[in-house]
Amino acid sequence: MMRIELAPDIEPRLRKALHQAGSREIGGMLFAEQLAPGRFRIVDFSLDPHSGSYANFRRDPALHHAALTAFFDKTGRDFSRFNYLGEWHSHPSFPVRPSREDMDTMTDLVELGSSEITFALLLIVRLRFWMWMDYSMTAFAKGYAPHRSRLATRFI
Ligand SMILES: [Zn+2]
Repeated sequence: MMRIELAPDIEPRLRKALHQAGSREIGGMLFAEQLAPGRFRIVDFSLDPHSGSYANFRRDPALHHAALTAFFDKTGRDFSRFNYLGEWHSHPSFPVRPSREDMDTMTDLVELGSSEITFALLLIVRLRFWMWMDYSMTAFAKGYAPHRSRLATRFI
């Protein structure tokens, strides 16, 4: 059992980014603090506002490598406590359910031998009525079927 929660500023920051992006898909990486075994708090995220289009999001590898390095520097390179947790993107025009392409991309990320990542979350968010935020969260782990998950702290 895994518990995921959000630091207090994450939801307002996501909401602001989604407002600014309008109908473009945006996204980036999720960074987390491990609070206890199996318990993570999302404390930061990267945002690539320029790679997205209406129905597709692909992140810029160089930009995101820089974001990862900046997060590690900011958290004192304490990798066992602060580390990459996964990916997020928006579906401004579609339900937050992962698309076939999303599932394939995430499965490749954890299953491919060349990747150091063996576990990753996928968070998909969508603003509703300019007020609420829908989300879906799916956990991908090498050797396991994708698993739908929910936040311990709900979006309001
Ligand atoms: Zn998607």
